[in-house]
Amino acid sequence: MLFKNKSNPSPQIDNVGSSFRELQSRLEGLIRIANLLFGFLNGFILDFKELEASRLRSQLEALKKTLGSEESIKKIELKFEHEKAPIEDYISLQKKYIEEREKELKDIIELMAKAMTNLNTENQEFYQRVYSQSEKIEKISLLDDIKKVKIALKHEVDQMREIVNLKADQDKRSIDVLAQQVELLRKELEKTRAKSMTDPLTGLYNRQALDQYLDEKVSNASNINDEFALLMLDIDDFKKINDTHGHLIGDRMLMAFAGKCRQAVRSNDFLARYGGEEFVIVLEGATYRNAMKKAKQICESVASAKYTTDQKQTDQYLSITTSIGVTVFRKNDTVEDILQRADKALYSAKQKGKNRTIGRRS
Ligand code: GH3
Ligand code: MG
Ligand code: MG
Repeated sequence: MLFKNKSNPSPQIDNVGSSFRELQSRLEGLIRIANLLFGFLNGFILDFKELEASRLRSQLEALKKTLGSEESIKKIELKFEHEKAPIEDYISLQKKYIEEREKELKDIIELMAKAMTNLNTENQEFYQRVYSQSEKIEKISLLDDIKKVKIALKHEVDQMREIVNLKADQDKRSIDVLAQQVELLRKELEKTRAKSMTDPLTGLYNRQALDQYLDEKVSNASNINDEFALLMLDIDDFKKINDTHGHLIGDRMLMAFAGKCRQAVRSNDFLARYGGEEFVIVLEGATYRNAMKKAKQICESVASAKYTTDQKQTDQYLSITTSIGVTVFRKNDTVEDILQRADKALYSAKQKGKNRTIGRRS
């Protein structure tokens, strides 16, 4: 058998040759498949910075090179064995990472939806819109594809923003209206307050305003720089004016008297109608001497003024006089103390014949 056909190679050698070629093409095919699998694996790696994907990519690249190298299969196997564990770790890490992010996203959506349904707003329409929006957002968490979740979430967030902006506009408009109303009410209140402090006939402060003013002055007066004088004025025999000329003329005389007082004092002094035909003047920073001087001036100016009761009968003049009690604030005085002293001084002025000024320091 061995010598049957010498020119032809032995069939055993033939067999070895074809087995070798077959093995070689199988190996090449397997390397191609392995490279393809490397490509797939590369494609699966997501570029999350936190997971250091670039490190894994270079590890895979090195392995790929080893596969095509001339190194012994034993060595290649060893290298693959060595790199197996970190690659497996990376794959499970990436899986865990994605699951965690997905859970977080779903939690956020749920939280937003819950927060919106819990919004306690007085505006029924806004509440309704927010509620239906929250339902839509809740549905997003049921979507499996993270990309779809992202798109849907963005859309709903845009809608939500629009609703909130609309509500903010509405709120701003109602706040503006409210602010206007508040301002109107504040002005009304100011007017009413001023009215409640003013005597309607003379336009001077009334008794209530005087009490308030004196309370403040006395409680703030802690040193000599806070000194002030108080004048109590009472028109003499005013009853006679009313009786002779009537109440209307009496009123006019009261108005004229108030005008005279106003002219006599400084703008920061305080004038009040204390009662019927009684008035009080507080002279800021005035000494006893200054106050007496001022009171006498007022007394003289009131007495010298002449008023006509009838435009036609210009020869018929009317005049009034006033008695004035003067005092100054003393340390530790109460409001009653100072008013009582002025009243006593006024009483003395009446007793001594009216149309005069009497002062009391204590
Ligand atoms: P005396 O010099 O002692 O002060 O005498 P008098 O007449 O001024 O004092 P009296 O207290 O007896 O009378 C005060 C009068 O003032 C009585 C009252 O009718 C009058 N009177 C009080 N308020 C008003 C007012 O608002 N208008 C008018 N027209 N008269 C008033
Ligand atoms: Mg009187
Ligand atoms: Mg009087």
